[in-house]
Amino acid sequence: MGMNEILKGKVKTLFETDNPEEVLIRYEDCVTAGNGQMIEYPKGKGTICCLMTAMLFEYLESNSIRTHFIDCPSLDTMRCKKLKIAPVEVICRNIAAGSIVKTTNITEGFLIQPPIVEFFLKDDSKNDPLLTPDRVRLMGIHTEPLIEKARNVNDLLQPLFLLCGIDLVDFKLEFGYDAHGDLFLADELSPDNMRLWSKDRTERFDKDLFRKGEGDIVEAYKVILTKLRQFV
Ligand code: 5GP
Repeated sequence: MGMNEILKGKVKTLFETDNPEEVLIRYEDCVTAGNGQMIEYPKGKGTICCLMTAMLFEYLESNSIRTHFIDCPSLDTMRCKKLKIAPVEVICRNIAAGSIVKTTNITEGFLIQPPIVEFFLKDDSKNDPLLTPDRVRLMGIHTEPLIEKARNVNDLLQPLFLLCGIDLVDFKLEFGYDAHGDLFLADELSPDNMRLWSKDRTERFDKDLFRKGEGDIVEAYKVILTKLRQFV
């Protein structure tokens, strides 16, 4: 199989394959934060994030959510449907943390009922600003299907993590369209793009450990992968 690099992202590398309708995504042993200002290379991280994403995408697929995932030709690489990725990050929040706490008077830990869905521009050069739904529409993107899909994903993932004794605080999704304009969930689903707190709120198992210098992310991500394997 050919392995021509198409794009090198911060923590994933995209390759073309012999099939023009597919791409390979290799998860690197790398973690970044602060728009690339913090960077480390934790051994084994790529494989854990790839395996967890594959497991969760398969779970979502089995519950009628279409994703770009096809299979894993190796432990750190996913074969995916080639899509045109919408330039927005879709964030779903169940509990207040991170940017919503920094930019509003809502305090960390506040239960967000019902959960909210927000849009951020996917553009590091502009620091990924928060968008209004009107601005997203002006960008030519239909917001309703993205909001509905994000809520569906939340409705499936929140109870799954609860079985593991974990609160799904928030998460980021990316979406893409195939040649027919059909919508698919894309990118990644791992503790790199979600916040995961123990139910008693004494432990965190996500990238905030790295962002705040509070612990070993590989060990924390392994705990989540092991817990999920009991239920998926
Ligand atoms: P916040 O808006 O609070 O910074 O992030 C909300 C959620 O989306 C968190 O789980 C965070 O990890 C995820 N998230 C937001 N932006 C990004 C991003 O650019 N990359 C990744 N991997 N996750 C993000």
